[in-house]
Amino acid sequence: MILSFRKSASRECVETAVRRLAENGLNCQIVAGADNLVIVVTSPCEAMPGHFFSHLEGVEKVVKLTARSPLAAESGCSVVKIGSAGGGRIALGEGQEPVVIAGPCSVESREQIIATAGAVKTAGAQALRGGAFKPRTNPYDFQGLGLDGLKFMAEAGQASGMPVVSEVMDVRDIEAAEPYLDVFQVGARNMYNYDLLKELGRQTKPVLLKRGLSATIDELLQAAEYILVSGNLQVILCERGIRTYETRVRNTLDLSAVVILKSLTALPVLVDPSHATGKRAYVRALSRAAIACGADGLIVEAHLEPERSISDAAQAIDPATLKEIVEDAALLSDVLGKRDRQQSLPDLKMPVS
Ligand code: PEP
Ligand code: MN
Repeated sequence: MILSFRKSASRECVETAVRRLAENGLNCQIVAGADNLVIVVTSPCEAMPGHFFSHLEGVEKVVKLTARSPLAAESGCSVVKIGSAGGGRIALGEGQEPVVIAGPCSVESREQIIATAGAVKTAGAQALRGGAFKPRTNPYDFQGLGLDGLKFMAEAGQASGMPVVSEVMDVRDIEAAEPYLDVFQVGARNMYNYDLLKELGRQTKPVLLKRGLSATIDELLQAAEYILVSGNLQVILCERGIRTYETRVRNTLDLSAVVILKSLTALPVLVDPSHATGKRAYVRALSRAAIACGADGLIVEAHLEPERSISDAAQAIDPATLKEIVEDAALLSDVLGKRDRQQSLPDLKMPVS
């Protein structure tokens, strides 16, 4: 059961409701939404009459938990706002222009990331990506510059005025990393790391959650639910390709997941065409397809000298291609009426089954 409170409801009012629930043997958790508070009743409560909940002071809406990921379905932010120390601000999600986040796979050096930030900004990207803690399949491969890399990222973000997105792999890194990034990325390999998800749920900055290599859509939504129920409603989902039998591409981009996620949840959905394909030649076409089917934006690997990238060289694009992708995204969003809902094509929202 989810109890959604009126915007005007005070914290005391919500805490009084928590006490009333406890008096009736019900455990619950308070979750702070973008502009209201929500209580998730975690104990079974089918035996309680509905009016017990709806009559609690300040309650605006009572939602029965039918979905396995009720907060993702009902209460997550539909627009995630990303701020940054350098002043750059973006809004990602429903009714917003598509956002392109770009940058290298790895932060390779201070000079590299600062120069790349300038180039991706000039190409039209709105936020900078770059890995400092790198989850590499082979332990002998470059593992990233760690916290030093993140500090270089922060500097590049400040210099370019762009928010910074970077991956944390371990609960123990969150506190040290937090001051240097604007969005915590959870990589595909960590989508099932529930301790990490819970701790990111206690943070105040948004989380970009990538779909696991072989995760179902429902598993992705339940991973998001861990972050949401821990108190952070600013979750961005990311489809980055899944493992299939196909060998021509690194992964298979599951665009149906974008459509289905948009029908099951209000959360913004991004597509990563770089890890999805593993080959730079395919990145632009799949970026177009992603925006056309309703993705709220893209996260793309771009490098000043793509073939010299320390990691994921085969999929890195150059700034000129990135510029084309940004232009494609803006054009497509105009054509599809994403920027102006008044003129939009008939909505393709799927029935929830
Ligand atoms: C990345 O974005 O740098 C990355 C490692 O991606 P994924 O977790 O999707 O493999
Ligand atoms: Mn990569």
